[in-house]
Amino acid sequence: MTDPQEYDVVVLGTGAAGLVAAIRAAREGARVGLFEKSEQVGGTTAWSGGMVWVPLNAKGLAAGVDDDRETVLGYLRGLSHGMMLDETLEAFIDNGHRMLEWLEQETAFRYQPVLGFPDYHPEHPGGLPDGGRSVECPLFAYADLGDWADRVTRGYQIDGTFLMSESSMARNRPDGGVSPEEYARRAVRDERGAGQALIGWLLRAALDLGVEPVTGARAVRLVTGTDGAVTGVTIERLDGSTFEARATGGVVLATGGFEHDEDLKRSFIRGPLTRTVSVPTNTGDGLVMAMRLGASLGNMREAWWVPTIDVEKAGWGTVVWQVNGERSRPHCIMVNGDGGRFTDEAANYNAFGNAFHVVDVARFAYVNHPAWMVFDTHYLTRYGLAHHKDPGNVPAWMLSADTVAELAGAMGVHAGALEATVARWNSNVADGHDPDFQRGVSVNDRFWGDAAFGMDVAATLGPLDTPPYYAVQVHSGCLGTKGGPRTDGVGRVLDVDGDVLAGLYAAGNVMASPMGMTYGGHGGTLGPAMTYGWLAGHDAAERARAARA
Ligand SMILES: Cc1cc2nc3c(=O)[nH]c(=O)nc-3n(C[C@H](O)[C@H](O)[C@H](O)COP(=O)(O)OP(=O)(O)OC[C@H]3O[C@@H](n4cnc5c(N)ncnc54)[C@H](O)[C@@H]3O)c2cc1C
Repeated sequence: MTDPQEYDVVVLGTGAAGLVAAIRAAREGARVGLFEKSEQVGGTTAWSGGMVWVPLNAKGLAAGVDDDRETVLGYLRGLSHGMMLDETLEAFIDNGHRMLEWLEQETAFRYQPVLGFPDYHPEHPGGLPDGGRSVECPLFAYADLGDWADRVTRGYQIDGTFLMSESSMARNRPDGGVSPEEYARRAVRDERGAGQALIGWLLRAALDLGVEPVTGARAVRLVTGTDGAVTGVTIERLDGSTFEARATGGVVLATGGFEHDEDLKRSFIRGPLTRTVSVPTNTGDGLVMAMRLGASLGNMREAWWVPTIDVEKAGWGTVVWQVNGERSRPHCIMVNGDGGRFTDEAANYNAFGNAFHVVDVARFAYVNHPAWMVFDTHYLTRYGLAHHKDPGNVPAWMLSADTVAELAGAMGVHAGALEATVARWNSNVADGHDPDFQRGVSVNDRFWGDAAFGMDVAATLGPLDTPPYYAVQVHSGCLGTKGGPRTDGVGRVLDVDGDVLAGLYAAGNVMASPMGMTYGGHGGTLGPAMTYGWLAGHDAAERARAARA
């Protein structure tokens, strides 16, 4: 163990939750140590779309969004199924918009409203079909980050070459609907959007405040004083050496979820979770550290669910690919191993996760998992899947056949069953509806569909009638888990007796999410993550100030 390092506040993890915690504490005068396990910063946040769902945000309201506290609380509580706890839920709603305003007023951070993107349950009471609760960062010029520009991790599905709102409003076109001239302009100063922009603005703000992340520094064990309060954390460097990072105010866990740890998943997660799209360093370290101190746990069975497929990506090998807009487009359905449809394919990705967890009690089997996306040549050539559009060059991860029956054979599905499913789908589509699963009834389904049809039901309904036919297996995946140490409304971790575990905080996917099993709208994970980072950073800085006094 090398010499200890002295701080007021120690933050673990450099995703959105950790960076916001570090920024708030530093802005309030704390000496902040920010430690990151990976050799690069940004976490899954840097790979993300960078949308942030913050109800009542000032810019949305100023743009005319009709919303209020009771409406949004009613919306979320109506989706809660008893899983949300009032204290943490209300603290998110009451502080999220304050967090955004504070960041803009006190730091270099900038955001803009995203209008027109529906909430994820838009027809649910209190849901906003025209959106307005989501925000994003404007483009951020990485040329302004100096040496740090190359130290931000970059994902394979969203590389940050466009704003998420550009892609969404262009209804998920792979080029984001951005012209080649605009791309060329952005290249000059390496301007990036989406999660790259969010991390860029936050990192800029942190660096401005003198907070330099320490990378290759994995937190392994919390240190406590004689009264049981957390006083620091042991950090392990890549070479195996360790040191203690001491914190007079407290330690903020912002280490992401436990989705990459098979044993933790087996212990806690409620049903199949066989894929994840998060950074590989999210292995539940923060959860285990908090458990060791007797933290109370909450929301452990839940994840931010998303259906995924395995695809080959040049330079990456096999990667886990989220299928969101791609599920919603016409000429594509999803079937289970029995060859039947089983839900509204275009439903929001988090809600969709529930369909994978249905058990047929007689067979004692997860009957819908894994599932199959089935589509025709019309779909492949018009939309493509994971950027593959060429029917003459079908990748190895995609099955193809000249007839539906042959495709069923390749999938290992009963041919007659799949033929009947496709025939029924085509007949219903010809009538302009889906009486089986109401696909296309929700604004959500049509919004994620083919923009050429506007908000008509044809944006998501279309026949499978153009051979060859294709199939790709679909897995139950997640963006990250969302259970962990329970906190109070300022991010302080609670112990198993419900008392505050002094000096320990949690924010982001490491904590028991205030959202229960729900995903309110686009940006539903990052909104609470940043809010709790902001709350925790403040309380820890206050605690340090009190200790000094
Ligand atoms: C393609 C994609 C698109 C997405 N789009 C959106 C979107 O638009 N809006 C939205 O809300 N969500 C989105 N998500 C989900 C979102 O990215 C995550 O839920 C969010 O980033 C979690 O933030 P976090 O700060 O909790 O964790 P992370 O950003 O994952 O950061 C956790 C960090 O902690 C570090 N760490 C782990 N263990 C330790 C340790 N022991 N010591 C030190 N550091 C440690 C990790 O290396 C990591 O850097 C998307 C995800 C993906 C993959």
